[in-house]
Amino acid sequence: MISVSEPFLGKEELKNIIDCVKSGWISSKGDYIKRFEAEFAGFCNLRYGVSTTSGTTALHLALISLGLKKGDEVIIPVFTMVATAFAVLYTGARPVFIDCENRTWNIDTSKIGEAITPKTKAIIPVHIYGHPVDMKPVLKLADKHNLFVVEDAAEAHGAEYNGKRCGSLGDVGCFSFYANKIITTGEGGMVVTNDKKLAEKARLLKDFAHSPKKRFLHTQLAYNYKMTNMQAAIGMAQLRKIDMLLERKRKIAALYHRYLKDIEGLRLPIEENWAKSVYWMYGVLIKDDFGISRDNLKAQLLKEGVETRDFFVPMNRQPAIKKLASADKKRKYPVADYISRRGLYLPTGLTLREADILYICDKLRKIQKRVLRRWL
Ligand SMILES: *Cc1c(COP(=O)(O)O)cnc(C)c1O
Repeated sequence: MISVSEPFLGKEELKNIIDCVKSGWISSKGDYIKRFEAEFAGFCNLRYGVSTTSGTTALHLALISLGLKKGDEVIIPVFTMVATAFAVLYTGARPVFIDCENRTWNIDTSKIGEAITPKTKAIIPVHIYGHPVDMKPVLKLADKHNLFVVEDAAEAHGAEYNGKRCGSLGDVGCFSFYANKIITTGEGGMVVTNDKKLAEKARLLKDFAHSPKKRFLHTQLAYNYKMTNMQAAIGMAQLRKIDMLLERKRKIAALYHRYLKDIEGLRLPIEENWAKSVYWMYGVLIKDDFGISRDNLKAQLLKEGVETRDFFVPMNRQPAIKKLASADKKRKYPVADYISRRGLYLPTGLTLREADILYICDKLRKIQKRVLRRWL
């Protein structure tokens, strides 16, 4: 079975873990944490990194550190992983959904303006599947309406918008180090920023907000979102090879492009000329003229030993959140609707070999041919 994603782990990760166990620093204090935070922030060309237990808690921590609360509204793309919406809901604020655009599948920036109300406090652009959002119009609107910009860069470590790293373009960036992300710590996340006060607030809130005057005295509600030194130890080993991992992702995308570009009815991912995508996942759309539905193709690929994943189910169709979201029931999301029914991502794991990609593309082509032949 060719799995849809696999982490790239080696002996450096193992060596660092052994180091933690031997030294006894297995909890949330220790050198690896400090180094990982400093070096990952540096990788984003930022000053401060605050590690967390996940990408989801990184988002929540960023939002509460900015003071988001009940009664506020936060603009997010309707097409995203559910954590973006959940994190907003944890604060008591309400997510307001915006449709995606059909080139990069990112938030349609031309539709943000009309969704801004006096309650709007922040925008969360999500760099979907590793392709940067067109940030200029987002930043312009945020500036005009005095809104925070919280980048959900969970899928976009190392991606660039006009030469600047994703996660460094807004007020604060949030990353995930889940096992299928560009680099991993098993579970884990990080908030990155240049804002010293914000970083300090996040540091306080992720560790029970002990009073600076007296430990175990707490003047506000806070959380335990602390990453362990063992996770950071893996993260450090991963960070050492991030350039190689990013090259691998781009190579995988280039190979898929080469072997799939002439197949009718298949829409491959694009890269805008102002963007450097990291192709976190290689997503394709199975259009109607492909001849078979997405679900049918998925089932047949699975029979050939190729695992794939459907695109995200848009937030407006999530039973857990649609009731809690923006009051505007009239808003429609035709692009997200279209792509979520036709989108699928192919194996994009970091351990994939060229022979695997050739096999996958060959099977995909044969499945289509088989069906077309049946029609003749
Ligand atoms: C993975 C992901 C998250 C959540 O990260 P976890 O570490 O799994 O909590 C949030 N947003 C997006 C866009 C993601 O892809």
